[in-house]
Amino acid sequence: MGAAVALHMQGHNVFLFERFEAPRPLGSGIILQPTGLTVLKALGCGDAILKLGHIINSMSGISMPAGKCVLNVDYSSLGHGMHGLAVHRAALFEVLYARVNELNMPVLTDTEIVDLKHSAKHVDLVDSKGKHHGPFDLVVDASGAKSSLHTHAQTPPARRMLKYGAIWSSLDWPEQGFRKHVLDQRYVAAHTMVGVLPIGRHSGVSCNQAAFFWSLPSDDYAKWKNQGLDYWKKQVRSIWPETETLLDQITSADQLTLAQYGHHTLSKPYGKRIVFIGDSAHATSPQLGQGANMGLLDAWALGYSLSFAQGAKTSQPLTLEHTLQTYAIMRRLHVRLFQTASLSLTPFYQSDSRLLALLRDTFFDPVSRLPVARKLVAGLVTGLLTDPLGRMGLSTDSITTNK
Ligand SMILES: Cc1cc2nc3c(=O)[nH]c(=O)nc-3n(C[C@H](O)[C@H](O)[C@H](O)COP(=O)(O)OP(=O)(O)OC[C@H]3O[C@@H](n4cnc5c(N)ncnc54)[C@H](O)[C@@H]3O)c2cc1C
Repeated sequence: MGAAVALHMQGHNVFLFERFEAPRPLGSGIILQPTGLTVLKALGCGDAILKLGHIINSMSGISMPAGKCVLNVDYSSLGHGMHGLAVHRAALFEVLYARVNELNMPVLTDTEIVDLKHSAKHVDLVDSKGKHHGPFDLVVDASGAKSSLHTHAQTPPARRMLKYGAIWSSLDWPEQGFRKHVLDQRYVAAHTMVGVLPIGRHSGVSCNQAAFFWSLPSDDYAKWKNQGLDYWKKQVRSIWPETETLLDQITSADQLTLAQYGHHTLSKPYGKRIVFIGDSAHATSPQLGQGANMGLLDAWALGYSLSFAQGAKTSQPLTLEHTLQTYAIMRRLHVRLFQTASLSLTPFYQSDSRLLALLRDTFFDPVSRLPVARKLVAGLVTGLLTDPLGRMGLSTDSITTNK
């Protein structure tokens, strides 16, 4: 929807397809970083998302049982008023969907796209019932990590599943016991992680929400269910007793949804009359919390590249392929850096390695106190490293706040 709005704003006629019967959000909470927030503001959704989300000023991680701080990221180290915004996915969905409707953009639901068919100058989409939709000039594939259109990329991705995923739930935010503007996490070695994130609200709930998550090897999910909730709650309590107010709200294992993590990066996120954005182009574990933000950056970069091509004063008109290359180049450095960082850092927080956990507990805190490292870590966590916004004519000045 972000890409659709960006392209509509550039004067393109955009048609949206969604496999679900009624467009709906999936999952719990995410952190919108200054990158994603800046794009949302540019899309005309800035005020609406700020009203629903919850400002995050820092991220904290403590290794148990020692109680040692191993993650401490302060947004203010990147400049006064800098912050993240934690949101329920439903809130992000709601805000973008309202904007799509406001712009009267057509959305065809209950339509699962499975393939493309090219003609001389156009491309058609083919749905799971064999129906053709089109003709279109360009297909923007934003269908997520398991896209069925990857075979049309110049170099289809090699996807690998990560051993660890997590179970997630959205619960009522307990007014006592947790810091209000902090993503808080507790770790035991690298095999256990529990986290609490205040995520504000959306129109379907009457009070502020918390995203609550527990890391788990995906293959152990059935075992976790069989062991029963009481067994699991005892483990959580022993690591973080204050979570009792959240655990009390969980009465069925079905309140927790398993999220499995995979990793892939398309080296060329485009093909003939198709371009890939978001998780379809690059997916990873949410350890750095960048996926949705990178999707929004992709969306804006695509709109920016197309507008650049339209306005370019060259002797020869720029071809669509050149334009898609421009988009890919605009995003390349940022995508590669964050994909590599996520893949390398995830095992320090989610793996069976005792050595990596020991290295994390010994070195991460003292190193991150060094002024240069502090800025680097903040740049990594906020997604601002390599200045992805500057490349596409945006800056974070528009979103800083003193709250
Ligand atoms: C547990 C967890 C926590 C996360 N935390 C964060 C965070 O804090 N910050 C952050 O930035 N990111 C986070 N992420 C990553 C983020 O959720 C993803 O990167 C983001 O949702 C990707 O967006 P997308 O639009 O590319 O794909 P998706 O969100 O997967 O959306 C794809 C859409 O396409 C539709 N679709 C799929 N296939 C078809 C088809 N064949 N035909 C028609 N429609 C189709 C789907 O129904 C869906 O609506 C997290 C991810 C997980 C799992």
